[in-house]
Amino acid sequence: MAQIKIDRLAHSYYAKPETEEDFALKEMDYLWDDGGAYALLGPSGCGKTTLLNIISGLLVPSRGRIIFDNVDVTTKTPEERNIAQVFQFPVIYDTMSVAENLAFPLVNRGIDRSEVGRRVKDMLETLELSAKANHKARGLTADEKQKISLGRGLVRYDVNAILFDEPLTVIDPQMKWQLRTKLKELHERFEHTMIYVTHDQTEALTFADKVVVMYEGEVVQIGTPAELFERPRHTFVGYFIGSPGMNILPCEIEGNKAFVAGHSVDLGANYGPVDGARLELGVRPEFVRFTEGVEAGIPVSLVSVDDVGRHRIVKVRLAQHEMNVIVPEGRALPDKLAVVFDAERCGVYANSHLLEPEDFDNQVVGYRDDY
Ligand code: ADP
Ligand code: MG
Repeated sequence: MAQIKIDRLAHSYYAKPETEEDFALKEMDYLWDDGGAYALLGPSGCGKTTLLNIISGLLVPSRGRIIFDNVDVTTKTPEERNIAQVFQFPVIYDTMSVAENLAFPLVNRGIDRSEVGRRVKDMLETLELSAKANHKARGLTADEKQKISLGRGLVRYDVNAILFDEPLTVIDPQMKWQLRTKLKELHERFEHTMIYVTHDQTEALTFADKVVVMYEGEVVQIGTPAELFERPRHTFVGYFIGSPGMNILPCEIEGNKAFVAGHSVDLGANYGPVDGARLELGVRPEFVRFTEGVEAGIPVSLVSVDDVGRHRIVKVRLAQHEMNVIVPEGRALPDKLAVVFDAERCGVYANSHLLEPEDFDNQVVGYRDDY
C-alpha cells in the first residue's frame, strides 16, 4: 500500500502542445492517501483514463511527476510500481481455466502453492464462479470474463494500489450492485488504496470515501459525497451530482442579494464586488420551495411534474430560465406558483467557480428535515 502523490502533472497526447486545449489533463497536484477508496468521476472524454494510466504507469506524462511514498516512479512500469489495474473490457487468458486465470498473477510472483489455492477458492466464491472453476475461460459470457478480470486484480493482496477503469460496464445491473458491495468489503478488509473510475454518480458515491470530480481535463473538486452535495465548488459538480442536479441561474450580485431576471434573492451573506465575471446563482432543487401566497416569492410558471415516488420533481420556468423544485410527498402544489430559495443553501459562482462570501464563517448547515 502506498501514498500516491501527483506533482504538477499535465498531459498532452500531442508531441508539441501549443494551447490549453491541446492538454488532455491540465496541470494538477494531488495526494491520494494510503488505503483510501477513491472514485474518479466525470463525463466521457474528461481525462479519467488518461490520469489512471499515468498513475499505473501505462502512460508517461508530458509534465510533472508521480511519487509513491517518496519514491519518484514517473518512468517506471506498472510491474515496477506493483499496481493492479482492471480495465473496462476483460483481459484474461482464453485457453486457461477460470481457476488458472485467477492463480496466474500469484503463481507469477512465486506465492506459496497452498496460499494460491486458498485465495483462488476464496475469489471463486466471491465472484460466484466456483461451479465454473475448471471451465476454459473461452466459453464464458462477457460478464463472467469481466468478473475473472476483476478477480485477477483482487487476488493480489500485496499491491500498492488497485485501479479500476469503469470495470462494471459489461456487467448486468444486479451483479453490478453485488460486485460493488464486494469491492467495498475487500477494501475494508485489506485496506488497499483503490481508485475507481466511473461516469456514474451512484457508482462513485456508493463506492468511495472521497470522490474526485473531473471536467474537461481538470479536477474541479475532491470531497466526500456529502461535501459535493452540500457545497459544490464548481457549477459542473452541482449539475453532475444530484438527481436532478443543482439549478444554475444567471444573476447579478449586490451585497447580500442576488438578482435573477430582476427578482431579488436573499443570499444570507455578503459578497464583495466582482468585476467582469459571469455570475450565476446555484441552488439545489431540494432547497427551493413553493410559497403559500405569490406575493412572498418569485413568480414562476409550471413546465412539468415528475412523480418519482419519494417526492415530486417540479420543473418551472423563471423568466427564460428553467429550474427544478423538489416537493416532498403529500404536499399539494399551490394554484399560482412562486418560489423562495433557502438563503444558506445558495451559492454564487463566478466563471463557474464558487465564490466565498466576505463574511463566510464555514458554518455547517443541516439537511432540510421535511422530506
Ligand atoms: P475518459 O476516460 O474520461 O473518457 P480519456 O482520458 O480517455 O477520457 O480522454 C481524454 C481526452 O484525451 C479525450 O479528448 C480523448 O479524445 C483524448 N485521448 C485519449 N486517448 C488518446 C490517445 N491515445 N491519443 C490522442 N488523444 C487521446
Ligand atoms: Mg475512459
